[in-house]
Amino acid sequence: MTRPGKPRRTATRLVEAGRRNEWTGAVVNPPVWRASTHLYADSTDLAEGRPNADGHFYYGRRGSPTQWALAEALTELEPGAYGTLLYPSGVAAIAGALLGVLKTGDALLMTDNAYEPSRAMARNLLAPLGIETRFFDPLDIDAFAQAFCDRTAAVLLESPGSLTMEVCDVPAFAAIAREKGALSLLDNTWASPLGFQALRHGCDAAIMSLTKHVGGHSDLMMGSVAAGEELYGRLRAKAQSLGQVTAPDDAALATRGLRTLGLRLERSTSSALEVAEFLSQRSEIAYVLCPMLPGAPRHELWQRDFTGGCGLFSFVLKGRSVAARARLIDALELFGIGYSWGGYESLVIPFDPARVRSATAWPPQGWDSADRLGVRLSIGLEDPQDLIADLERGLAAMGDE
Ligand SMILES: *Cc1c(COP(=O)(O)O)cnc(C)c1O
Repeated sequence: MTRPGKPRRTATRLVEAGRRNEWTGAVVNPPVWRASTHLYADSTDLAEGRPNADGHFYYGRRGSPTQWALAEALTELEPGAYGTLLYPSGVAAIAGALLGVLKTGDALLMTDNAYEPSRAMARNLLAPLGIETRFFDPLDIDAFAQAFCDRTAAVLLESPGSLTMEVCDVPAFAAIAREKGALSLLDNTWASPLGFQALRHGCDAAIMSLTKHVGGHSDLMMGSVAAGEELYGRLRAKAQSLGQVTAPDDAALATRGLRTLGLRLERSTSSALEVAEFLSQRSEIAYVLCPMLPGAPRHELWQRDFTGGCGLFSFVLKGRSVAARARLIDALELFGIGYSWGGYESLVIPFDPARVRSATAWPPQGWDSADRLGVRLSIGLEDPQDLIADLERGLAAMGDE
């Protein structure tokens, strides 16, 4: 459902994408169409109802202009996409993509630093269906190539990876997957299409939690999958069978968020860099895991492939205890303690990846084993100097043990 001849530059697209006169009339932002039922004019109209065409009223489960406008806007922002499906959460989008491409007897390769609920799907959703999941090290391309078997039908990538922020050579991994006859699905929530063009870099599907950057205001849950024509059709059929539908109110909020996505990402990226630079100078911190920061692990790969960043990064404490980390976090006044990220407000959360790894070690080889406790920051739209002052206070409260 892309329209030809539209402006090319991202900032302009963010403003006008999905705004169709025939859907919303003279209104700038699509109104909230709360509708289960569409009334047909007469029997002829009913007979011509185009029950399964995108962008035509049929029944509420197929959406309304509010959801179509958002889906179309997301498609226009993802070069190479034919269409975008909306799901009630990011997790539902990942599950929808996996169920859309895998069947009993297939095998899935999943990156070892995947978002934890994605890992849980291997156990709770895929294994009972007779789908085997193998985890791979996102930094070891040879081991990845060897992990394929003749049943491998799909690969789930995430870059930078959740919590530990490893940038993976997505184009190389996707090329190997293609060569082996498997589809590559990328959880692109961190970068969004503004920071990383998933389909252009060889992936078959770009998955996002719209809860994060696109919503941007910590007040909605939604997910999306963008894909080329053939895969879009398959995923759409599966989503319809599962009865996946998003609320028009949330879709309207997500579309509103999309309009300022570029500005918010620019600001949170530059603030995150300032904060990351500050942290990298501190003796209490062993590693700053922020691929946007010059000198950080995998920065060169990030620079090669990415056109933008965001406010989410992590750091690892130098040899401190769990209690010390809690003192740091509890002393912060501007960082809310909470899951999620990508909102206008800054957040902090502790993490311990050792619990959830199976194909890689934590701490990684070559690190001091005492340097293992992680803290993740989501940098919002506050003044970065205030955030730095807050972190200075937290580090002072943490102490040496
Ligand atoms: C939050 C998140 C998700 C899941 O999104 P929800 O909307 O919370 O279900 C998926 N992937 C990543 C990387 C996330 O951070």
